[in-house]
This record gives sequence, C-alpha cells and structure tokens, in this order.
Amino acid sequence: MASSEVKKGKNICSLTMSSHVGFESLPDQLVNRSIQQGFCFNILCVGETGIGKSTLTDTLFNTNFEDQESSHFCPPVKLKAQTYKLQESNSYQPIADYIDAQFEAYLQEEMKIKQSLFNYHDSRIHVCLYFLSPTGHSLKTLDLLTMKNLDSKMNIIPVIAKADTISKTELQKFKIKLMSELVSNGVQIYQFPTDDDTVARINAAMNGQLSFAVVGSMDEVKIRNKMVKAHQDPWGVVQVENENHCDFVKLREMLICKNMEDLRKQTHTRHYKLYRRCKSEEMGFSDVGPENKPVSLQETYEAKRHEFHGERQRKEEEMKQMSVQRVKEKEAILKEAKFEHLKRVHQEERMKPEEKRRILDKEIIDFSKKKATCEIFQTQSFLATGSNLRKDKD
Ligand code: GDP
Repeated sequence: MASSEVKKGKNICSLTMSSHVGFESLPDQLVNRSIQQGFCFNILCVGETGIGKSTLTDTLFNTNFEDQESSHFCPPVKLKAQTYKLQESNSYQPIADYIDAQFEAYLQEEMKIKQSLFNYHDSRIHVCLYFLSPTGHSLKTLDLLTMKNLDSKMNIIPVIAKADTISKTELQKFKIKLMSELVSNGVQIYQFPTDDDTVARINAAMNGQLSFAVVGSMDEVKIRNKMVKAHQDPWGVVQVENENHCDFVKLREMLICKNMEDLRKQTHTRHYKLYRRCKSEEMGFSDVGPENKPVSLQETYEAKRHEFHGERQRKEEEMKQMSVQRVKEKEAILKEAKFEHLKRVHQEERMKPEEKRRILDKEIIDFSKKKATCEIFQTQSFLATGSNLRKDKD
C-alpha cells in the first residue's frame, strides 16, 4: 500500500502517491496501530523475598511500581507495565494455578460467539524472570522443581540477582554450573530466536551467555560528572548500566528491545496453545481420530453431539424405568396399607354389635333386677293394705 496525500477540492477528494507501493510501509502501520491500541506485556518475577525483584523491575522500567497508579490515557507512547503480587509459598502450585487462570480467561474470551479480543486485556504471562541467589553452590531443589514444572507454561529467563555480592570469577563459575544443572535436569529455559536475520547474531550470542547476572538500583551516583544508576557499598560502586559490571543492559536489551514480540508470540503459539489443546482433549476434542486419521472440529462436534444425545436418551429411559418401578412399589405399599386399614375397620365394625349386645344384656339384667324389686315392693304393699282393711272391719 502506498502512503498518500489527500487533496480536497470542491467536493472532490484526490489521493496523490507519495511513495513506493510495497511492504515498506507495513512497519509504520503496525507501529501506529500499537501506539493507538497499546499492548500488554506481562512479566512475572519469581524468587525468594528480598532477592531484589521489586528493585530490578523498577530499574528496568525506570519507575516505581509500588507508588504509581497507571493512567488509561498516556499522551506519549509509553509502555503500560503491570505487577502482580503472588502469595509467598514453598510450592510452585500457586504460580501454576495463576498462569492457568490467565490462560483460562483468554480461552473463555476466545470461545465467545461475540468475541472482543481486539480490546481484551491480556493478562497471560509473557515472560518469567526467575531470580536465583548468587550462592555459588548448586541450585536449590525448590528452584529446580519450580522451573521444571513451569517451563511448559511460560518463557523462563533465569537471572542471578545481586550480582555485586559475588566476585567475577565466582560468578562465571556459578553461571556455568547453573546452566549445566538446568540442562541435565531437562529444564527448558527460553531461547532467543535465531530465525530472524536482523537479530539472529546477537540472539545466538546471548543464548550462549545465559543466564543474566544483574544488579538493580534506583540510586544515582555521580561518576565523571554524570549521574548514573549504581549500587554503592563500602567496597565500591557497581554501575547498573555498565556492561563490564553486570548484565543488566543485556537483559533489558534482550527483553524489551529485541525479543518482546517473540516472547508475546511464543506465549500465544506455544504455551497458550498447549493449554488449549490439553483443555480440548480433556473435553474429548481432538484433531485426530482413531488410527491417527485427521478429523475436523465439525466432525468431532457432530460425533460428540450424537454421543451426548444417545447418552441423554439412555439416561431418560433409565429414569423412566426407575420412576415406573417406584410407582409400582408405592402402589404396593399403599395397597398393603389400605388392606390393613380395612381389616382394622372391619374388625372394629364387627366388635360394635357385640358390644351393643353386651350393653343391652346388662341393661336387660338391670331391668329384670329392678322389675323383681318392684314386684316385691308391690306384693308387700298389697299385703299391708289387706291387713289394714281387716282391722277396720273388726
Ligand atoms: P524483593 O522482596 O525480591 O522485591 O526485594 P527488594 O527489591 O525489595 O530488595 C530487597 C533488598 O535488597 C533492598 O534493600 C534492596 O535495596 C536490596 N537490593 C536489591 N537489588 C540489589 C542488588 O542488585 N544488589 C544489592 N547488593 N542489593 C540489592
């Protein structure tokens, strides 16, 4: 595409070719788009408390992350950096969970029918700076275990922190030891890409010099009339940006100037896609079918739908059978209960006339007794009246 000038006449707009038609304007377009939209680059710093993580990130971006709240509107082109605090722990699991949670959030957005990845706030970790103590001894088991378990989830760059606290010869020996331990334990650390001619030479050289021994400091010291960032202690001054003193400049150059885009790309194409593949396989989706034959997502989806449909029908039938069985059982119980009830009612009904007869018999006996008593009284009073009459006659 050619860059052009717009000339406005009377309701006429004409474009004038101002440069060559070709790929040369593509970088400008990409830069302009990045300036307008911004982009996310997330760095995760892992290492023990007090090893120098905060100081190094502040030094890298020449800012103070603790105090500063980033604004949404930065007029000049600026990097919008972010820091995340993870709970201190003696296990790599919280870090793994955190990384997976960021991948999952992206996956959910990607699976939406109405995606908005265009302005999605990408929180996936693009690079992990793994801080190691300059002990000169072997790597700690926890560090080895953590790197081994996280190397498939993110790009890891090991850094030797507080490099000013160890002598140069010791540091060199430690670097070699460290790298050989990482290799012998099969830890895959990030390799700077060598397929792009513009950075191939420097990247290859840096791959051979890993890891970076760094010094972090926001303090400034005057050296030859110039204020420079340095770490000062009773033994001397270590300049942060002096390549003879430490690898800070190399790290900054490799991380931000030369390979930021590759780190973002690797995060998406290698680590995120691995996460997505595992998730898809967990859900039963795969690119290959039985006998390693390639299958389309549509085919897998149809097969899954068919399988789920069959399973649902089977479950429905099972539930139906179960409910019929339950009804039968309930009916039997009710029948039994009804029979018992009727038997009791019948028994009660049968008892009623007998009771009535018993009461009547008792009433008859009582009545007979009363009648007999009355008759006795009557006879006695009759006899008494007869003797009175005889007395009167006399
Ligand atoms: P964090 O807990 O890992 O974030 O560690 P900090 O960045 O807070 O640093 C802890 C202490 O180490 C502070 O007192 C820093 O001044 C000091 N420190 C940081 N970086 C360096 C360094 O490169 N060399 C030396 N000697 N001290 C450092």
